[in-house]
Amino acid sequence: MCRHFLKIQIIVFCAFYGLFSVTATAAPQPVTEGWEYRWGDLPFTEEGVPDWSAAQDPDQWHAIDFPGNPPGRDGQEQVWFRVTLPAGDWQVPVFYILSADLILQAWLDGEKIYQYGTFDQDGRGKFEGWPWHEIALPEHYENKTLYFRVFSDYTDIGFWGEIGIIDHSELILYILENSLEALLIAGFSLLVALLALVFSLLQGGRKTFFSIALFALASSVMVVAESQASQLIVPSALLWNYLAAGSYYLLPVAMGLMLDEWLSDHRSRRAISLIWRLHLGYVVGALGLALTGVVSLSSTFPVFDVLLLFSLSAMGALTVPRLRSLSVEQQALVLAFGIFGVLLITDMAVAHGVVPWSDVPVSLGLLFFALAVVIISLRHFVATQKALQDLTVTLEQQVAERTKKAETLLQREQARTSILAFENEKRQIFSDVITELQACASVNQAFQLLVEAMPRLSRPLKGMLYRRLNDGSYQRLGSWGYDSKDPNPELLPVVVTLDQLPVPLRLAAGALEDDEAAARSWQGRVCFPVNVEFASHGSRLEGILLFDGDSISNSGYTEYGAARLMSSINLVAERIGVTLSGISLREDLLRFSYEDALTGLKNRRYFDQLIAHETAVALRNNSPLSLLLLDIDHFKRFNDNHGHEAGDAALQVFASILKSRFRGSDIVCRYGGEEFVVVLPASDIIGARERAEELRAAARNETVMFEGNNLGHLTISVGVANWPASTSQPEQLLKLADDMLYRAKTSGRDNVEVSPDS
Ligand code: GH3
Ligand code: MG
Ligand code: MG
Repeated sequence: MCRHFLKIQIIVFCAFYGLFSVTATAAPQPVTEGWEYRWGDLPFTEEGVPDWSAAQDPDQWHAIDFPGNPPGRDGQEQVWFRVTLPAGDWQVPVFYILSADLILQAWLDGEKIYQYGTFDQDGRGKFEGWPWHEIALPEHYENKTLYFRVFSDYTDIGFWGEIGIIDHSELILYILENSLEALLIAGFSLLVALLALVFSLLQGGRKTFFSIALFALASSVMVVAESQASQLIVPSALLWNYLAAGSYYLLPVAMGLMLDEWLSDHRSRRAISLIWRLHLGYVVGALGLALTGVVSLSSTFPVFDVLLLFSLSAMGALTVPRLRSLSVEQQALVLAFGIFGVLLITDMAVAHGVVPWSDVPVSLGLLFFALAVVIISLRHFVATQKALQDLTVTLEQQVAERTKKAETLLQREQARTSILAFENEKRQIFSDVITELQACASVNQAFQLLVEAMPRLSRPLKGMLYRRLNDGSYQRLGSWGYDSKDPNPELLPVVVTLDQLPVPLRLAAGALEDDEAAARSWQGRVCFPVNVEFASHGSRLEGILLFDGDSISNSGYTEYGAARLMSSINLVAERIGVTLSGISLREDLLRFSYEDALTGLKNRRYFDQLIAHETAVALRNNSPLSLLLLDIDHFKRFNDNHGHEAGDAALQVFASILKSRFRGSDIVCRYGGEEFVVVLPASDIIGARERAEELRAAARNETVMFEGNNLGHLTISVGVANWPASTSQPEQLLKLADDMLYRAKTSGRDNVEVSPDS
């Protein structure tokens, strides 16, 4: 890596070396001999030409080595220079001046051959920039005197830098050659500026890169603006001067910004910050004032130079002692700044004539700075590449992790969706089952229906349903999901007793009182109690739903899904229990409404409905139907003698005689008071009479015991009617039997009368 890096540096240096070693062209022939100066302006004639006679006085002219800043200025703003032009071998000779302060005219042979700037009537004018001047010389100029009229309200007055005669074409080449180095460096620096700007944007607007960009940009603009070639690109000296001033004044701002970022201690940062802000203010203020014409642009330079001298020294003083705390890169940049600063100060000294004129290679300072930035940037680039590589690896890892997470989530979501779909399907089935259950007339019928419904309700789970028997044990009503080829391999016993049940079920069944914590599982099955509320004996564990534990764990559900399933089944079992409780309640109510509470026989309401049904059946099947109507004799007297309670007991005794005598299809009802009716389907009149007689005999033979006392026996009178023997209209049977009963009573009681009388 290091070697590779070194190679790049060498290539960069070689490229620059190659570019700058262009073969030198001819330089202007200096005109340094015989200069004279004269303070003050010459009087001008009305035609606007100098009064040459006034210039004839040799005492007014003084010799000078170089036509710039003649001695004894004393506030003078106007000066004339003159020189006798040498002869030479030129094709198109031009008089070349590197720079002049500030505006000038050139006169030869009484003719104005050149003017830069505008002179007013008083011979004064405004600053128009610092261009180099090319004054075309007319034919036969040799040995003639060239006069220069100069005005300057600037610190300097007169010429500055090189003065000479050269061929026009060679001058252009000479200017280009002089500027080439600066232009190349400026171009390079501009690139660096862009590079730094890109870095500053890439790295989230980092101040360091921004200030590097600003510095590189400002200094490259400055170098271009100050280069002589600029005048060839855009021939506006003032514009270039503004650009040069703006960029030159910005340099300490950029430097300050950078140091402000790097230095760690507060005080020096504050000082640096103050310096760059001051300079920023100066940029805005000086250019603003110059543009609005309040001050001359030229006059802003000396002030700035003084300011810069102080700022550079201050920044140097603040930075150098803290160099150690800076990184190598920062140190390199500070060094570049240092070199740049020294060059700037030297240039400044030359500009103000503190040291004799020489071409200070300010642009080399910029080159040094730009190279430092490039090297640093390359290093950054390499580091960034490495960081990017690392980042890519990390990102890839993160992506892999996220993908894995997303997949897990997706699987979970799929599982959840399938659970929901499963639950939805089952909910629908269950709702249908509940509707069917509600239509059941009895708990028995409901259990039968449940056994049929459970497979579709609980598929794919294996399970069983148990139902409570009268003796308190539980009988398996059915099972589902088990392999039919291998009959009942995993089934539990058909009948289980209470103590075989798992603890929670025994608790539910009321067999245990302690609230023992125990699993719901019973021999690998998960049990769900179906508790039913009965009017007669309260809540009772009436059914048990069992599900095969394996079939739950193998159903592909997650732990969460399985738990959810469990709680769903629990709810199902509870809901079944509630529905069954409703059915049982309805069953009880129905039974109570057709039953006589005292005797437990069917009541008259039941009889009324039944007789219509039995009549229809008899008619349809053409099978006989007999009816016995019974009445206890002198029951009022019995009541009167023994009390009403004894009467009740007597009624119960008689009812039990009836129950024991009639079974199966015969129906015995208490018709009211001490009257009873017996319906004998498929019984002919002879059989009916026999039954009536047997009954009468049984009543006579049964003694009534009440509270340990023998209350004697009862007698009954019976009226018998039969279809078709008694009547052709079966609905007449009750009336006929009643007639017969009346006859039995009137004929002495304890009697049986059969219709028709026989
Ligand atoms: P007969 O031989 O003519 O049938 O005379 P009877 O006294 O049996 O008939 P009656 O119709 O005069 O009286 C019937 C009595 O039966 C009147 C009533 O006190 C009694 N009785 C009706 N229902 C009950 C009951 O539920 N309990 C008791 N203890 N007595 C009842
Ligand atoms: Mg009666
Ligand atoms: Mg009676």
